[in-house]
Amino acid sequence: MKIISSITEMQEITADARQSGKRIAFVPTMGFLHEGHASLLREGRRRSDLLVLSIFVNPSQFGFGEDFERYPRDMERDSRIAAEAGVDVIFTPTATGMYPAGFQSWVNVEELTLPLCGASRPGHFRGVTTVVCKLFNIVNPHLALFGKKDFQQLAVIRRMAADLNMPVEIVGMPIIREADGLAMSSRNKYLSDADRKCALCLSRAIMAARSAFRGGELSAEIIMKSALAEIGREQGAVIDYVELRDSTTLAECDRVNGNTLLALALKIGSTRLIDNGVLGEDD
Ligand code: AMP
Repeated sequence: MKIISSITEMQEITADARQSGKRIAFVPTMGFLHEGHASLLREGRRRSDLLVLSIFVNPSQFGFGEDFERYPRDMERDSRIAAEAGVDVIFTPTATGMYPAGFQSWVNVEELTLPLCGASRPGHFRGVTTVVCKLFNIVNPHLALFGKKDFQQLAVIRRMAADLNMPVEIVGMPIIREADGLAMSSRNKYLSDADRKCALCLSRAIMAARSAFRGGELSAEIIMKSALAEIGREQGAVIDYVELRDSTTLAECDRVNGNTLLALALKIGSTRLIDNGVLGEDD
């Protein structure tokens, strides 16, 4: 397994691999890897001849006052997890390599980035789509794998790849959870024991909404009430958003169906956590 920071070296490796007919899979991350990332890597390994993982805490997707500086980093542990998952190359570009002086080109997906995390984190998705576009141009993969944990991000990246004719297959992967239901996230490291307990209300809200839907309930208002009741039980949870939207268009809805998405963002202590579930599906 190679670890490289040079953009030109990364481009040369995948250009050579393409020349020899290899299929390239790519998993972009911000590091501090966990089982969610590992599941993407294992699927990438299964589907390719060359597996590239990027680790880059992308400054342009963090807003003022967010956790860019304190975002957890552990390259030694990440290398171990990557090696176990069969990664061939870890690409760790630098911020100045990615955003040199004079940088001024941005990729922006419009409507899909307006609601949910786009509304509460202005500029976030512009940072995400720009860095993913740049990484695609550098790595030039045949397929790229993303988790449904960041459901809106996956929808936005699919849109960008289709709209801009990017020759890459976007693969969406299931949410990996802890045994008690908490969606795995690098940010779970911030949680105190009390926060950790409180954070279970995200997955409980999804379960409550799903069970109301499976019981035949189709009113968005009533499904929403069942989700909010779970969150209301926890004093330490502050709602950023809890919304029911169509999982394809992200449009709001009054009536739900199997494709309706429940999307949540909560502040637990000082940590913002997101989670989601499509009502008619398991993770
Ligand atoms: P991040 O390092 O948080 O930017 O995430 C990198 C990739 O891993 C994104 O495509 C995420 O959606 C995915 N990911 C993060 N957490 C999970 C999880 N619990 N289950 C599945 N995929 C995940």
